[in-house]
Parts: sequence; structure tokens; C-alpha cells
Amino acid sequence: MRLVKLLANLGYGTRKEVQIAIRNGWVTDRAGQRLKADSKTAHEDILFDDEPLDPPQGMILLLNKPVGYTCSTKDQGRLVYDLLPDRFRYRKPVLSTVGRLDRETTGALLFTDDGTLLHRIISPKAEVPKVYEAELDRPLQGSEAELFASGTMMLENEDKPLKPAELEVLTQQKVRLTLHEGRYHQVRRMFAATGNHVNALSRIRIGNLGLDGVEEGQWRLLDATDVDKVF
Ligand code: URA
Repeated sequence: MRLVKLLANLGYGTRKEVQIAIRNGWVTDRAGQRLKADSKTAHEDILFDDEPLDPPQGMILLLNKPVGYTCSTKDQGRLVYDLLPDRFRYRKPVLSTVGRLDRETTGALLFTDDGTLLHRIISPKAEVPKVYEAELDRPLQGSEAELFASGTMMLENEDKPLKPAELEVLTQQKVRLTLHEGRYHQVRRMFAATGNHVNALSRIRIGNLGLDGVEEGQWRLLDATDVDKVF
């Protein structure tokens, strides 16, 4: 039954469905031998429908999130999970987003089933830099960079000042902003506090991990080298 539990935990189906898949010969080793439910074949040598299995627990992936998708498992409307294989929704332990992006924000969004890793990335202590590009409704006033870097900026309804953030001016209405924390709607609220409005927002990097080559709506699995880039 080891194989049944493994496949069910990876989201390939209920135990019953997975048993049927095994009986139908859809689960093989790399030599094409059909596997039985009590097989002890190593994870990396198992194929489901001729495809290698998804990684075991500790999986982390990077999605380039498009506009209009919500970081939730059950909101109405389109969800970021709709962009991943269906089975990822049923993995155990659960595959969660690492923090959130607003529905209208695009760009780098991580998912993992590793709670420790998730905590290491989002913990305020870790201060993993998150880099955003924003298009603004109005030209900058000129005082924003100093205000954002001050470490004294307060957002409405909050009792702690924001950590210093770095603003890079690309044009008068396009900026790159690096944050070291992740408060609710932070970028939008920071610009709203200066009398401006963010028309478009994209996260282009988490630590030193960029999207290179991952097109909007696409995702890829990360390996240990990628994960090192986050910290
Ligand atoms: N800041 C925002 O305002 N929205 C996001 O999605 C991320 C950071």
C-alpha cells in the first residue's frame, strides 16, 4: 500500500482512484515495468502515465502571476491554483502561496508545501527583499524616495513605522521599489499616502530570484540553487 499512499498524498487521486491507476498499469518504473501497490521502488524511479512523479514534500515552485487571479484556495473567480496542475491542489501537506499578491498585481509568486521554508521567507526577521515595479497615475513629487527610506513612514491604521524601503526612479511615472517586509497592499498604500495611485504593479524579484524566462501564467519547479537565491 506504500505506493497508493505516496500517490494519493501527491494528489494523483483518491486512494481508490490511485489503486485503479495501478491496476490499469499506468504506474511503472523507468524500465516500463508495471508497479504493484506494495512496490518499494524509489520515488525518483516511478512514472505515472509515463511522466516522472512530482517532487516529494519540500517542493517549491515559482509562478509568474497574471492580473485577475486571487491568492486563495476558495474565493470566487479565478484562483492562482487554476494555473497549476489540478493535483497540486490536493497534495498533502498542502501547497500554500508564500505570502500573497493582490488580485491585480502580477509577477513572482512562490508556492511551497514546506512550512519551515515558507516561514523563513515571509518572516519579518528574514527581511528577504521583494522588488516591485509600479506604474503611477501621476508624476512623482520628488520627496518619495526620502520618505520611503526614512524608517519613520506610517500607514493609516498601523502602529509601527515601515522599515526603510529603496525607491529607484525609472521615469517620472515608473518606479522600482524594494521592500523588506510585506504588509497588506503595502506598495499601493505607500503611494496612496503620497497622494498618488498605482495603476499597475508587478513583483519582479524575491531576494535574487527573478522570473527569467517564466512567462506570464507559467510556472517552474525550483531547485536548491534557486532557493539559495531567495536568501
Ligand atoms: N504591495 C501591494 O500593494 N500589493 C501587492 O500585491 C504586493 C505588494
